[in-house]
Amino acid sequence: MSSNYLKDFPLLKQPTANGKRLVYLDNGATTQKPLSVIKALEGYYGTSNANPHRGAYGLSVKATELYENAREKVRHFLGAAKTEEIIFTKNATESLNLIAYSYGLQFIEAGDEIVLSIAEHHSNLVPWQQVAKARGAVLKYMYVNADGVLPEEEIEAKITAKTKLVAVTHVSNVLGIVNPIRRIAAKAHSVGAVIVVDGAQSVPHLAVNVRELDVDFFVFSGHKMLAPMGIGVLYGREELLEAMPPFLCGGDMIEYVEEQDTTFAPLPAKFEAGTQNVGGAVGLTAAIEYLEQTGLDVIEREERELVRYAVERLQQLPYITLYGCGDLTNKTGVISFNVKDVHPHDVSTILDADGIAIRAGHHCAHPLMHYLGVNATCRASLYFYNTREDVDALLDSLSRVRGVLG
Ligand code: PLP
Repeated sequence: MSSNYLKDFPLLKQPTANGKRLVYLDNGATTQKPLSVIKALEGYYGTSNANPHRGAYGLSVKATELYENAREKVRHFLGAAKTEEIIFTKNATESLNLIAYSYGLQFIEAGDEIVLSIAEHHSNLVPWQQVAKARGAVLKYMYVNADGVLPEEEIEAKITAKTKLVAVTHVSNVLGIVNPIRRIAAKAHSVGAVIVVDGAQSVPHLAVNVRELDVDFFVFSGHKMLAPMGIGVLYGREELLEAMPPFLCGGDMIEYVEEQDTTFAPLPAKFEAGTQNVGGAVGLTAAIEYLEQTGLDVIEREERELVRYAVERLQQLPYITLYGCGDLTNKTGVISFNVKDVHPHDVSTILDADGIAIRAGHHCAHPLMHYLGVNATCRASLYFYNTREDVDALLDSLSRVRGVLG
């Protein structure tokens, strides 16, 4: 059955360079954009483009309104208490660096412990290594079990009175497993630590409410949830953001500048130095509207059905090794696998010839790859616009891989 959503995504209807039907299964890397987002960008640049917050003239006021409306849209989308708690960045990576450099370097001290999960993307790992080195802190890891699930005992054992900060992904970009964030947040808070959650792979696929999760910081990238590249979000609890020094300095983030000193603008401007990506914020608004109209509950349910179908079919192939697929009850559409005796790059090249786009490599998760005992995996990552037909095409092509190279 072809997707009800296909009509909204022009790129998905375009054949590949060699004339095949495009089967796009690299949504964990970035998603395709619906017409409403493309049109919102065209509308912004065609009718409303100006530098916001700077001019008293009409166009600048309009651009400012669109930018601040986007902030309110994100606040509501995340269930945050205040718009001041929403900071625009260029992506999840920048948001995480902002927290590491601004909060981490200021508040982590020698001997403190920073707890991560072994399934972190490098962007929620390398900045914390830098902080630990600079401050003389200790990095500790919570390890997943054979199903890719973070066991309760790991949370209990690793988060202790010495823990100052817990940085954990909501959903692993390799395993697709949804971590028990509310439980981890409760444990972190019980020992007086703050919790940073990387929502890059969760926000596109399931409804998130930062107050229900009770997290201190939460980040995501627009481009993985239908919005353009170059716009990201940092949510932070107001009192924490207030206590943090600015990350980048320059125009727009100041209140008053003298020769030797500066007072900073109030939140959120304190963390938004320089000209911001208003077009990206407008695109993000349209993306959130599309997701809300479709319904994140519908998206989550449909993806779960599709991932179950895909995993059950893949499990029947004796030459496929699956990672993080032992427990499908808490899993989004990310499926990592290897084909026996075939390098993932060769697999993806052969699949590409059949019009199928997957990712192969370490997925910016070297420590997890090492822990799993592999150098690389293939990763098919599904989104709500994918269909059983797409999964069938993947399976057919994988049997061809075996025929050619196995
Ligand atoms: N965190 C996770 C879990 C991701 O999957 C990614 C991107 O793949 C990132 C962070 C970084 O996102 P970006 O490159 O948009 O900053």
